Amino acid sequence: MTTLADPVPGGRPGDLKRVSALTKDLDLRGVRGIVLAYVDTAGVGRVKTIPTARLESAVRWGVGMSPVFDTFLADDSIVTTDVLGSPDGDLRLYPDLDQLTVLAGQPGWAWAPVDRITQEGDRHPGCSRTVLRRIVADAAEQQGLTVKAAVEIEWAVGLDSAPEGEFVPAVSGPAYGAVRQVELSDCTADLLEALAAQGVDVDQVHPEYAAGQFEISVGALDPVAAADRSVLVRQTIRAVARRHGLRVSFAPAYLAEGVGNGGHLHLSCWRDGVNLHAGGEGRYGMTAEAESFAAGVLARLPALTAVTAPSPASYLRLKPSQWAGVFTAWGRETRETALRVVTGTTGRRDQDANLEVKPVDLAANPYLALGCVIAAGLDGIARSLPLPQEITGDPARFDADEAAALGVRRLPVSLPEAVEEFRADPVLRDALGPVLADAVTAVRLGEAAAVDGLDDARVAAAYRWKY
Ligand code: GLU
Ligand code: MG
Repeated sequence: MTTLADPVPGGRPGDLKRVSALTKDLDLRGVRGIVLAYVDTAGVGRVKTIPTARLESAVRWGVGMSPVFDTFLADDSIVTTDVLGSPDGDLRLYPDLDQLTVLAGQPGWAWAPVDRITQEGDRHPGCSRTVLRRIVADAAEQQGLTVKAAVEIEWAVGLDSAPEGEFVPAVSGPAYGAVRQVELSDCTADLLEALAAQGVDVDQVHPEYAAGQFEISVGALDPVAAADRSVLVRQTIRAVARRHGLRVSFAPAYLAEGVGNGGHLHLSCWRDGVNLHAGGEGRYGMTAEAESFAAGVLARLPALTAVTAPSPASYLRLKPSQWAGVFTAWGRETRETALRVVTGTTGRRDQDANLEVKPVDLAANPYLALGCVIAAGLDGIARSLPLPQEITGDPARFDADEAAALGVRRLPVSLPEAVEEFRADPVLRDALGPVLADAVTAVRLGEAAAVDGLDDARVAAAYRWKY
């Protein structure tokens, strides 16, 4: 599996064997170009594209791209750290052939996520995909644990014909409404067809709570592939919608008021093929390790917010009583605690039980978000951290004393506040390494400065179409 192996100059041996047949097949299928995709520190998808005939060269030697994008902001301005953000240098982008997918929603195109290495063939410390792969590999080697993950995707459908920059919902039916399902019937059917053709197993798709909003959930995979999939599914939703004269927003708050778009993470830890979130002696069938994993994530949520909610617009979404989970608490099937223990239905628990992390949105780089959440959980397991008592109902009802007695904290209410928590967290810094951790800090502070003084409506507008 190349998804689990670092690229090497000259090409990964398995890739060299198959690239020529693959190129011929792509050509026969009418694929003219390949999108090489990664996500920058700010959470913006960046790409280079190559003609299909260049695939073998890309597999052997990569494709050049500057490391400066590691400190790009969502508005394409640039901040700097000690190491990153200078105009010097170049990296090589290596496509992952395991994940290469012919894009059903973009005829003539295929897509592949990339790892970025230096021209000397070393790991690039700013490559979030490489960092996630290392975190997952270390968990397997050092703790004998594998992790499965899935990213939920919510988006709002607007009219492409709306005035520049504005959001005009393309549908008007109610939340979970039959009316809205019919309004977007053709587009959603095309989306399901495209995702099926791309090998994405969709669990369900439905009209969501907010204006013009929909949600899709997909099957769990190893974390690197799950992050890739979240990028691919968004690319597909965007492309299919465009063919229907629609425009989609994955921004955390596409409108300043009301419920936003989440990107909830689902995670389960496995040992020797056994799901640690089911069949145990702990609460709701969790094993001691699954409880400690949840405790580890819970303990670091305020710092994690800088990674899982990375945009100034994220803090328009992260409000109480909007199902975004803004309190450091857990509960079974609770939609207002940051962590939701999902047991699944009886008969399926050994497969389905997992932990959902809610204060995550789709501005988050999914590789960074999964990497940091997994690192926090694994640290909880390593320290056998106890999971505090369950909270039921909406924690917003607690007064300050009650919340303090229960250990329930409101998550950061602004990006600078989240950055302060992140900076003080050695486990997350260690998980990312100093280069990427410094980039996270610099980019977040840059984003905050970029919207300084803007009212909520302008903040929402600034990020509406960026992710
Ligand atoms: N839209 C909500 C959010 O921002 C989530 C709704 C749900 O529970 O699916 O996280
Ligand atoms: Mg939802």
